[in-house]
Amino acid sequence: MSAARGADPREALLGVYRPADPLFVGGERAELIDDEGRRYLDFTSGIAVTSLGHGSPVVTEAATRALETGLIHTSNLFRTRPAEELAARLARLSGLDRVFFCNSGAEGVEAALKFVRRWAKEAGGPDKHRIVALHGSFHGRLFGSLAITDRPAYRAPFEPLMPGADFIDPVSAEQLDRALDPNRTAALVVEPIQGEGGVRVLPEEVLHRMRDWTQERGIALILDEVQCGLGRTGELFPHQVAGIEPDLVVLAKPLAGGLPMGATLLTDEIASTIRPGDHATTFGGGPLVASVALAVLDHVSSPGFLGEVRKKGHRLEVLLEEVRERHSERVTEVRGRGLMRGLELAGDAAPVVDRARDAGLLVVTAGPRVIRLLPPLTIADAELERGVAILEASLT
Ligand SMILES: *Cc1c(COP(=O)(O)O)cnc(C)c1O
Repeated sequence: MSAARGADPREALLGVYRPADPLFVGGERAELIDDEGRRYLDFTSGIAVTSLGHGSPVVTEAATRALETGLIHTSNLFRTRPAEELAARLARLSGLDRVFFCNSGAEGVEAALKFVRRWAKEAGGPDKHRIVALHGSFHGRLFGSLAITDRPAYRAPFEPLMPGADFIDPVSAEQLDRALDPNRTAALVVEPIQGEGGVRVLPEEVLHRMRDWTQERGIALILDEVQCGLGRTGELFPHQVAGIEPDLVVLAKPLAGGLPMGATLLTDEIASTIRPGDHATTFGGGPLVASVALAVLDHVSSPGFLGEVRKKGHRLEVLLEEVRERHSERVTEVRGRGLMRGLELAGDAAPVVDRARDAGLLVVTAGPRVIRLLPPLTIADAELERGVAILEASLT
């Protein structure tokens, strides 16, 4: 740390994080810039958030225009146009009917849990409240979302959490069959690609089985696309590859280009059981964030954009497979889709992350042995190559 920064300027921040040393003061496209002017290639995108890169004119112009109206916040006591337009756009693109806006992924998951509980009680009585989640899942850190997150160490200090969560092996048909009890289960919650759990793609046939069985048994299927959604995989909604229609979809991370926003999308059937006062948010769907989200969504869903992401994603996969072949004793597997990739190592991932950062590349782990790569969707091929070269040099 530079002497100019004084004793420890971090000490007033609650220690729930151990942030790395660089102090970032600016960003440009795929790079972050620290207070000494050093540039870092950012393959984290703030954990899949800044999908159009740093300082994107799409985000800056939409935010500036929105600020100039003088309308940052009104609360949901009043109508504003951006939230209505964004809801209509998300509904049309997803095939779902209704949208609830909030401020984060965990809030979106909590909303989904409340909505399915309400619906299931009306449809199946008071015992139909259990939520089934998958091994390896991550859905957030609040009392409901944490209860369905498969990280015992994250949960234990804070129990009791929301009761009624069950975990199953994602690919076991037998466990799925047993867990999906039409009289007791309200919902199955699934990340089509697990992020924090190690960048694991759920096989298409597994998603089909989950959709078929939940549908047959009157159980809601919630897809958590907070991390993998909105273009990261080369599709707007990753489940569209499998051609399934979920009952709810939760979005957040990249939704508003770096501003905090979440959304829970649901069917009319479930929405019809929700009444005024059943849920609320002071900030959710405000005109500033919704204006930026509209501009980001327009850009990401414009013709050609997602095709480019798929091409870049393929390029990244090829580069990583070459690294795996050259270092087969250190790299055991390359996983993921599009620009959401994981490199499973034979040893600890954390020292590799540290060496990469020292060499000018930002990456993040996904569990103890997986390096997770989440570059901006707008990244240039040359930057992908440069980033992977730094990563490869950081393996040893
Ligand atoms: C990050 C994440 C969340 C939680 O989002 P926050 O905005 O951090 O609350 C939920 N689900 C998934 C799949 C995530 O990756």
